[in-house]
Amino acid sequence: MSKLKNKVAVITGASKGIGASIAKYFAAEGAKVVVNYASSKEDANKVVDDIIKNGGKAIAVQGDVSNEADVIRIFEETKKAFSTLDILVNNAGIYNYEPIEQVSAETFHQQFNINVLGSIFTIQSALKLFGDKGGNIINISSGVSRSPLATGSVYSATKSALDAFTIALSKEFSGRNIRINSILPGVVETEGSRSAGFIGSEFETKLLSTTPLGRTGQPEDIAKVAVFLASDDAGWITGEQIAVSGGIYGL
Ligand code: NAP
Repeated sequence: MSKLKNKVAVITGASKGIGASIAKYFAAEGAKVVVNYASSKEDANKVVDDIIKNGGKAIAVQGDVSNEADVIRIFEETKKAFSTLDILVNNAGIYNYEPIEQVSAETFHQQFNINVLGSIFTIQSALKLFGDKGGNIINISSGVSRSPLATGSVYSATKSALDAFTIALSKEFSGRNIRINSILPGVVETEGSRSAGFIGSEFETKLLSTTPLGRTGQPEDIAKVAVFLASDDAGWITGEQIAVSGGIYGL
């Protein structure tokens, strides 16, 4: 139970869903956790309280990842609280399914600014705190980066872009002791996927009929793989895209 003992981790978008689960699993493995959120202060505080109640260490830090000044502040708060940084999880993300006719500059930029530019800002700040010791980055991508769905062209493109970053940066970080990998979830039951109408929909039923493991994912399915990638158990893995999708998005 101490795969991440004394490691410091920033998890973006950790007030709910997959990010909240990653925060709790990391803390249970001994990491000190920064629970970032955009607007759900109460939810983020609940995640922090839960971690502290279970003997862990965590703080909640507000910040919109698409705003560079906010991101700089998130990492300043991290340094103030925990002195250093070992792990960054780029989880904050939004998904907007709409036919191509409805895609606007606004919905395009919203998704690219949060899902892609936000990860550039966080990686830039993380590198400064990693320093010479190196670090570990996990990008929460999506199975749709490999297998885009109808009406999800822009969202899928943001996640394909994120995967390209994972590959390019794994090479750029050569010799710096920094590993970077993508996790590609299938449909996971979260506040986001519920409010987007996926859970309980005909689309979910259709997807499940071709999912080898025959069920929708839960946030902890992703969190357990994030713990593995963040730990020394994954010490020789970088630049990879790992599908965690019940088999539907495997290569
Ligand atoms: P979710 O339930 O909607 O939660 C999203 C989280 O991201 C919340 O904590 C939210 O904070 C935060 N967030 C949103 N915009 C932000 C911003 N600009 N800055 C900082 N934080 C922000 O999401 P989820 O379903 O767990 O998805 C998490 C990640 O997994 C996303 O990157 C998503 O694309 C990816 N993913 C999800 C699924 C799925 O089926 N659920 C499948 C594949 C990939 P607030 O609550 O404060 O707004």
